[in-house]
Amino acid sequence: MTIIDGNKISAQLKAELKEQVEQRLNAGKKRPHLAAILVGNDGASETYIGHKVKACEFVGFKSTIVRLSSEISENQLIEEIQKLNTDKDIDGIIVQLPLPKHISEERVIETISPQKDVDGFTAVSAGKLLIGQKGFVSATPAGIVELIERYHIPTAGKHCVVLGRSNIVGKPMAVLMSRKGYPGDATVTICHSKSENLSEITKSADILIVALGIPNYVTADMVKVGAVVIDVGITRIKSDTSKTGWKIVGDVNFDEVSEKCSFITPVPGGVGPMTIVSLLKNTLEACSKKS
Ligand code: NAP
Repeated sequence: MTIIDGNKISAQLKAELKEQVEQRLNAGKKRPHLAAILVGNDGASETYIGHKVKACEFVGFKSTIVRLSSEISENQLIEEIQKLNTDKDIDGIIVQLPLPKHISEERVIETISPQKDVDGFTAVSAGKLLIGQKGFVSATPAGIVELIERYHIPTAGKHCVVLGRSNIVGKPMAVLMSRKGYPGDATVTICHSKSENLSEITKSADILIVALGIPNYVTADMVKVGAVVIDVGITRIKSDTSKTGWKIVGDVNFDEVSEKCSFITPVPGGVGPMTIVSLLKNTLEACSKKS
C-alpha cells in the first residue's frame, strides 16, 4: 500500500511554479496577482485565506485580500467583484465561501469574470469542463487529478466511484475521470444521499473518490482489495489527544481501509494541500493568457 503524499507533491509543484514566476519576471513580464474576497470574520475562512496568501507569497505572486463586513449587501458585494473584474492588474478572483445567509452565493460567483475565475466555480468554467473545452477546473478535483498523474495510477477502463455530487468536488471529479485521455477514460459511477446499495457499488470500485463530509464513513468492508482510495473529506472534530482539542478527519476510516487498498490519501496531508496549488496554477495560467 502506498500513501499518496499530498504535502510532498504540492511542495514540488509550488517549487515548479516559483521557478516559472521567476522566469516570467526575468523576461519582464507581469507578476501574477490573486485577489481574495473575505466577507465577515469566520475563523475557518480566515485560516483558509491565510494559507492561500502564504502560498502566493511563496511562489512570488502578489495577493490582495478584500475584507468586507458581514453586513454588506449582495449588490455591494457584486460591485466589489465588478471592480476587480475590470482591474487590469488582477489576474484571478476568489470569493471565500460560505457567504452570509442573506447573500446568494450563486449570483456572487456568476459575477466573477470567467477569465479570472481561478476557482473554476462559474457556470462558464463548469460548462467548458463538461464539453471538454480548455478552462479553469475547480481546484480540488484538479489537484486530485494531479495526484493520480504524479503517482502514475492507471485510470483507463477502471471503475471509478465518486461519492458526493457537489458542484465543486463530486460533479467535476466525475467529469474529469470520464473524459478522454489520461487521467480519465474511466467508467464512472456517481453516488449521493439517495443512492441505494452504496456499499455494493463502492466494493466494485477500482478507484474510490469520497467527498461527503461525513467523518470515517467509508469502512474496510466497503472497499475492494487493491482499490485506490482518495479521501476529500475534511471535518474538524473534538479530540482529547491533540493540543488544540480538535483534529481534522477525513471521510474514510484510514486505519482499516489502508490495510486493504493499493493507494490512499491521508487526511490531513492528502488532497487538502493540492487544492491551493491548483488555485495557484490557475492564477498563473490566467496571467499567462494576458501576457
Ligand atoms: P457537499 O456540498 O456537502 O456535498 C456532499 C455530498 O455528499 C452531497 O452530494 C450529498 O448528497 C452526499 N452525501 C451526503 N450524505 C451521504 C450519504 N450518506 N451517502 C451518500 N452520499 C451522501 O460537500 P462538498 O463541498 O463536496 O465537500 C465534501 C467534503 O470535502 C467536505 O468534508 C469538505 O470539507 C471537503 N472538501 C475538501 C476540500 C479539500 O481541499 N480537501 C475541498 C472541498 C471540500 P446529496 O447531493 O444527495 O445531498
